[in-house]
Amino acid sequence: MQPAPLHPDEPRRLQTLRDQDLLDTPAEHYLDTLVRLIRDLFLVNSAFITLVDQDRQWFKARTGLLQAETPRDISFCGHAILLSDLLLVTDARLDPRFADNPLVLGPPHIRFYAGQPIHAADGQVIGTLCIADASPRQLDAAGIRHLRDLATLAEGYLQMRALSQQTRSLREAVDREQRKALLDPLTQLWNRGGLNHFYPLEQARVQDAGLRLGVIYCDLDHFKKVNDQHGHGAGDQVLWESARRMTAALRPQDLLTRPGGEEFVALVAVHDEAELMRVAERLRLAIGQAPMALDTQALAQTASFGVTLALCGESQAEALARADQALYLAKQNGRNRVEGRSAT
Ligand code: GH3
Ligand code: MG
Ligand code: MG
Repeated sequence: MQPAPLHPDEPRRLQTLRDQDLLDTPAEHYLDTLVRLIRDLFLVNSAFITLVDQDRQWFKARTGLLQAETPRDISFCGHAILLSDLLLVTDARLDPRFADNPLVLGPPHIRFYAGQPIHAADGQVIGTLCIADASPRQLDAAGIRHLRDLATLAEGYLQMRALSQQTRSLREAVDREQRKALLDPLTQLWNRGGLNHFYPLEQARVQDAGLRLGVIYCDLDHFKKVNDQHGHGAGDQVLWESARRMTAALRPQDLLTRPGGEEFVALVAVHDEAELMRVAERLRLAIGQAPMALDTQALAQTASFGVTLALCGESQAEALARADQALYLAKQNGRNRVEGRSAT
């Protein structure tokens, strides 16, 4: 195996990457959609957008992969960022750079790889858009052109994102090292620490806007059975897919977290309880309406929801406890439903 040499402009490249505030951030619906579409269009096992950090490659968007990062020295993308154009590996076993690479010899058993470098607005290369498959493959001229064009779309999104208000507020709220500890690697949502960190900030933001903070507590139904009947890996995929579906059903400014297990908490700004119920109903449908496509099968999954409006001046624990009581009611009343509870 040949680890890629460092990029000739590595310190500036890394500085640019860090200035984007992209590393260790939650998944985003636009990029999730893009990589899913790419995987389906190219009929490959996985499609992802990687950011090549100092010692690791971290996946900003991924489909078909469960790990959140891999060491840089075994990454294909470390090689791809050295090129001005596409890196195409039609059979990794026959390529001395990759033949004995652990990602080739072991899971995800990469044989085919194609990666197009992605640049920040200042021209520095920050990562790649790639596709990979466990079988050797060719990519014809049209395929190469399409992958380049799709990388341009990803690049455009990331460059606009770097300028957005949302990225600026994220930067003000939490620095990169902190962020890393607040992110759940499995679902790429904020974890319990993230919920605790962002709750008071959300409460203040919502109050400033003259709105109410809605708390939505979600728990997947009979999830233990998924693990028992289909294995822990299938369970992980259901958690991943549930996170994607709920992110897609929320607005970008809403906050979705996975405080633990098969439980999610969303914080949303709403006008009143009726609006909060509508948002939760949308989340319920997002999970339950269509079966989830796993590697080998489609699996029907539902979730129960408890919602409440936080009161001005009440603690996070009080509001969450009320949402949890409503969730308990939703479970009691038959699951796959939303229940609300108001403060008395
Ligand atoms: P209910 O409808 O009452 O919520 O039933 P349930 O089976 O969903 O609830 P229970 O609390 O009995 O089981 C939750 C399961 O979630 C048990 C645990 O193994 C599983 N789980 C928690 N975290 C993870 C995870 O990260 N990955 C996987 N695959 N399973 C997890
Ligand atoms: Mg639970
Ligand atoms: Mg459950």
